Amino acid sequence: MAENKIPYKIYLNESEIPSKWYNLRADMKNKPAPLLNPGTGQPLTAEEMSGIFCEELVKQELDDTTPFIDIPQEIQDFYKMYRPSPLVRAYCLEEALGTPAKIYYKFEGNNTSGSHKLNSAIAQAYYAKKQGLKGVTTETGAGQWGTALSMACAYLGLDLKVFMVKVSYEQKPFRREVMRTYGAQVTPSPSMTTEVGKKILAEHPGTTGSLGCAISEAVEVAVTNPGYRYVLGSVLNQVLLHQSVIGLETKAALDKYGVEPDIIIGCAGGGSNLGGLIAPFMGEKLRGEKDYRIIAVEPASCPSFTRGKFAYDFCDTGMICPLAKMYTLGSGFIPSANHAGGLRFHGMSTTLSQLYHDGYMEATSVEQTSVFEAAQQFARVEGILPAPESSHAIRVAIDEALKCKETGEEKTIVFGLTGTGYFDMVAYQKFNDGEMTDYIPTDEDLAKGLSSLPKVPGQDA
Ligand SMILES: *Cc1c(COP(=O)(O)O)cnc(C)c1O
Repeated sequence: MAENKIPYKIYLNESEIPSKWYNLRADMKNKPAPLLNPGTGQPLTAEEMSGIFCEELVKQELDDTTPFIDIPQEIQDFYKMYRPSPLVRAYCLEEALGTPAKIYYKFEGNNTSGSHKLNSAIAQAYYAKKQGLKGVTTETGAGQWGTALSMACAYLGLDLKVFMVKVSYEQKPFRREVMRTYGAQVTPSPSMTTEVGKKILAEHPGTTGSLGCAISEAVEVAVTNPGYRYVLGSVLNQVLLHQSVIGLETKAALDKYGVEPDIIIGCAGGGSNLGGLIAPFMGEKLRGEKDYRIIAVEPASCPSFTRGKFAYDFCDTGMICPLAKMYTLGSGFIPSANHAGGLRFHGMSTTLSQLYHDGYMEATSVEQTSVFEAAQQFARVEGILPAPESSHAIRVAIDEALKCKETGEEKTIVFGLTGTGYFDMVAYQKFNDGEMTDYIPTDEDLAKGLSSLPKVPGQDA
């Protein structure tokens, strides 16, 4: 089909929503390292995990071999409320940049939660409900995950307790009210309502919190309350599995027009949107069928891939969660308070960590003022007000498109536009007032976080 026939938005039909998720791990020769029990140093068994997570989700977490997993009909039906999400050809951005590159973005912000997180929230809530649980607990940083999960829990009639990173709780009161409107109980973290929260507050009085702290609190509440389990919105294999719906739709839409991307770009916090977006493309790459450049973009202030260590580490600050082998800055790492753009987690998906380690993808880090410059430029020509997280991907997509302008190459660039930024106006205000600064941690700062890495057999201290 002729290039100029490609519409601004490529929509799929309802019937083209995938009916199976794709499990990238099935095609990996080097599987992601197993989660370890922090007490014994041994791989976590399904039985041990089922005290924290729902049973079906434990199965998905441990399944490294089944390539396709059925999406239950109820979840497919929920997806129909806001999916398929559009794949947009960024004609306006291309023109503004004067680039011969062809730019596409998959827009996941078309639902009330404003991000891709709803794709996994509904799945996790569904399995919790199916197991007969009363409710779930979770943490939320910027608030998108908590919002998505509160929507899913409201839909299914599940109770939800959210621990929200204190700095976000204070900066984003409206995000909190959205969650409460959907019936969630929201507590700023660290809090005095949990043992681990009290301990963290005693050690770091006045801390504005971190995702790692909030995870510790949410897990404690889940394991001490009968009928509750803990759910996590990123990092885990099961979350990447659910998010594969993004990549499957993207690929189906591109295939309709015979378009093959050269470069695929996504922002990386815990790795769920990126893992989902790249899944089917990475599958082809792993099977030796195709090659793509795949780029993870992270904030310079929280650079797990680009400056972290590939090592076993705790997923939480309280050090009560399982150990995961991942690129990490250390569970004690707390990003600078002036960091506004989300993506604050100290670690990274074990699946993406292994793929990065094995050379299947690249990573780069960007500073927040340049991220907001990209966000502003994008908003003005493409109309959508992007989330700061998503804008990390925009930054690098624009940079790659500008390189094409220099070389005259007509590369096809696809990036994940994970969400909208309506609740990030404090950050946008700082940027607009010229008050946004960049903070790049020094090697000394990072050494402090990395000194907290646990001692695991076979891992040098
Ligand atoms: C949570 C979030 C991210 C980062 O999380 P990943 O698990 O790395 O995808 C990115 N963008 C938006 C809009 C988010 O809400």
